[in-house]
Amino acid sequence: MNIVKRWQRLRDELPDGVRLVAVSKREPVEAIETLYRAGQRAFGENRARELAEKHDALPEDIEWHMIGHLQSNKVRLVAPFVTLIHGVDSLHLLEAIDGEGARVGRVIPCLLQFHVAEEESKFGLDPAGARALLESGSYANMRHARLDGVMGMATFTPNEGQVRAEFARLRELFGWLKGEFFAGEESFKELSMGMSGDYPLAVEAGSTLVRVGSALFRPGDEG
Ligand SMILES: *Cc1c(COP(=O)(O)O)cnc(C)c1O
Repeated sequence: MNIVKRWQRLRDELPDGVRLVAVSKREPVEAIETLYRAGQRAFGENRARELAEKHDALPEDIEWHMIGHLQSNKVRLVAPFVTLIHGVDSLHLLEAIDGEGARVGRVIPCLLQFHVAEEESKFGLDPAGARALLESGSYANMRHARLDGVMGMATFTPNEGQVRAEFARLRELFGWLKGEFFAGEESFKELSMGMSGDYPLAVEAGSTLVRVGSALFRPGDEG
């Protein structure tokens, strides 16, 4: 099966209200062009420099998602065009995004990344960290970074029960923030969860954005 067929099958699988971010990290621009011609518009990258280079090489109407860990000093590379920064896990990073947004005259949509997996290595906030960020004076004064929801990754495990529980936890965190800090804010609506190995479970748990790479570009090599 070719990439366009895999893409069509995946899109048919996703219910209304769940959008696909095609994760094109380490893929050449030609692979992105193929999916672009088929109609895909949202692409995700995890390195700021690669994201900026691909943005420069490809059509203007692509939505670029920064899905990886972003260092504050790299925000400048993506601020002029990025559609959504998924992995905000510190006030310091959000301050950098706000500062760069002001510099380029944009409001930059972001998601707060939570740590729900068992693995130590995964980035992300815990509830206390999120509360501290949202209650800070610095956050209250931001005009060029906007929080549109939450993002997270489940543990890489064949244990479906565990993955389901972690996605449920992420959804609960989303609901908590929505109720306590973003009630009435329509733009706070995104729940970014689900990758090649676990997106069906993420969709069941309420994902609005799945980030799928290897299942599209390199089937057989998932994980
Ligand atoms: C690479 C990556 C993905 C996509 O992973 P696949 O298993 O290739 O689908 C999703 N989210 C993040 C944060 C990633 O770094």
